[in-house]
Amino acid sequence: MDRKISLIGNFASDWIRYNDYEFKENEQGELYIVPTAYATFSMYNPFDVADDLLVELMQLGQEALKPHQSEESLKKMIITFAKKYGLFGFISSSVYNRDIIGDEHVLLIENNPITNEKAMTVKKYVNKFIPFAEEGDVEFIEYKKCTDVRKSEDSPKFYGKRPVVIDLIFSRFYAEQVKWIIDFAKMMVSHFDQILTYKGASAYLTEEVTILAGKFNANKIGFTINQLDRTTIAWEFDSLKTAIQTIYAFAVTDEDVLINRCPHCNKIFIAKNQREKYCCVSCRNRANVYKSRSRKTQQSEEQ
Ligand SMILES: [Zn+2]
Repeated sequence: MDRKISLIGNFASDWIRYNDYEFKENEQGELYIVPTAYATFSMYNPFDVADDLLVELMQLGQEALKPHQSEESLKKMIITFAKKYGLFGFISSSVYNRDIIGDEHVLLIENNPITNEKAMTVKKYVNKFIPFAEEGDVEFIEYKKCTDVRKSEDSPKFYGKRPVVIDLIFSRFYAEQVKWIIDFAKMMVSHFDQILTYKGASAYLTEEVTILAGKFNANKIGFTINQLDRTTIAWEFDSLKTAIQTIYAFAVTDEDVLINRCPHCNKIFIAKNQREKYCCVSCRNRANVYKSRSRKTQQSEEQ
């Protein structure tokens, strides 16, 4: 893709993805996605694939919003997405706590996908994300001033800068509910639709409107300023979810309106320039055929 969402600063945020995932139900019958037992992992930087990551998430949301969507095709899309980009890190992005592990209680952010409760014990909260872990898979070790996570596997471990909870997200036992993923993807598409609606009505707006106030929460973005050959902002993300929201924020505020909705097939895509209205050549051609046909019927009706 020639055109790239212009991101400012240095997004040094590696994320993990496993090469295989599966769906599993917990005891309550809630459907989760989790890496398979023998899946291997690789690391990647979400900002290197920003365009595809954003578009694929939005297409997932669009599919989920369809009134007659098939659950099977949605599940297929979620597996494909997870294999390419990993899970979202909702355990971190849904609470105000930075480290989570080591605290006694978590304080949940407004409209989080996990629960309606405002606070809960860390144990209860963490267990929502590791329903299939067996005894000894993940161990929390309490020291006087901190907590450590021990994993009986070789997934990467972070020292220092990143919160301990990232270690848990990167483990093979970390799972997320399909419903949380779908809700997030749907929210992002609704957000975009609302932007388009307000854009169309901007002549009537007298003051700034916050789009989906209270729902588009990206609460834990940190940054530092780094120096190498130049001085740059080094963003620190707590989750893939927050990284996606950041990419989206840059995309929708770009002067050249990069992210767009195809007026023919309704698909969300990234335009290479402002003139590009349709998602592909065949949509443009078909739209033109319809246009000329309706012109002809109009003419013949007038005759
Ligand atoms: Zn199209």
